[in-house]
Amino acid sequence: MAVFYMIVGIPNGLLYYRYSPFINTFFSELGAEIIVSPPTNKSILNLGTKYCVDEACLPIKIFHGHVAYIKNKCDIILIPRVMQLNKKEFICPKFCGLPEMIKNNIPDMPKTISAPIYTFSKKSFRPWIKSTGLMFTKNYLKIISAYKKALKTQENFKPGIKDSGFPINVALVGHTYNIYDNFANMNVIKKLNKLGIGLLTTESLEKIKIDSEVKELFKRPFWTFARNCYGFSTYMAKHKKINGIIYISSFSCGIDSIVIELIKNKLGNFPMLILKIDEQTGEAGFDTRIEAFSDMLKRRCAE
Ligand code: SF4
Repeated sequence: MAVFYMIVGIPNGLLYYRYSPFINTFFSELGAEIIVSPPTNKSILNLGTKYCVDEACLPIKIFHGHVAYIKNKCDIILIPRVMQLNKKEFICPKFCGLPEMIKNNIPDMPKTISAPIYTFSKKSFRPWIKSTGLMFTKNYLKIISAYKKALKTQENFKPGIKDSGFPINVALVGHTYNIYDNFANMNVIKKLNKLGIGLLTTESLEKIKIDSEVKELFKRPFWTFARNCYGFSTYMAKHKKINGIIYISSFSCGIDSIVIELIKNKLGNFPMLILKIDEQTGEAGFDTRIEAFSDMLKRRCAE
């Protein structure tokens, strides 16, 4: 059976944090060498702002930076075209058109892996597995075995933050790529912990509880991110599991704007801090807002 040895470039942005176990295992098991761009840093951000259109949100610019950083170090590069993660729910259109956006914006791109990804069932995911696997081997059994191993690794991965032992706890809400990119969010997790604030993220709450909150909405949100962020925030606040909410939001993200309004509408004057991030956000102002919010929570708890 033919095996095509290749170096696969994997940009360390967008949903890579969430699905890195699957991605790394799948390509390694297919016999490829993988090269992942480093965590976001200043030069990656600069590359992103150089190549990406001004109007795009920060995570998309950062993803451009990761691609530009890695494109000459690999034979083929993964630009995931994520279409649907859950049935009857959709994802931001920027994900669906990401491969075209990248190819139009970044010159001299290598070949890309960019077949549409639908992960709401094994059947829906199969076309991506098959077409991607065939780029590396004609051995169908090897592709299936790589898929199964990747799935198992992903299932064993337990992402998220569930701090304990802090006198004050806050729900840290937002897209995974904003919460776990320490450069983009200016180390917000470390800063909050240092201020004595424990954090909980959406992954710490069972899906059934998130669903119960979402069901109460007049209209079911059809964006996967929106329903998770909304259901998690409102459940945690209503059940007094948190003292406040910190929402990390990308400038110019329509989905974030809607979710924030839905949460505010549901929770009234429950303490909530919205931290908007883009490449211009100044760290001093960001820190001042976090500290002021922390002081306010501490005062409320002491009353
Ligand atoms: S959901 Fe918002 S932050 Fe995420 S890619 Fe779309 S516009 Fe950007």
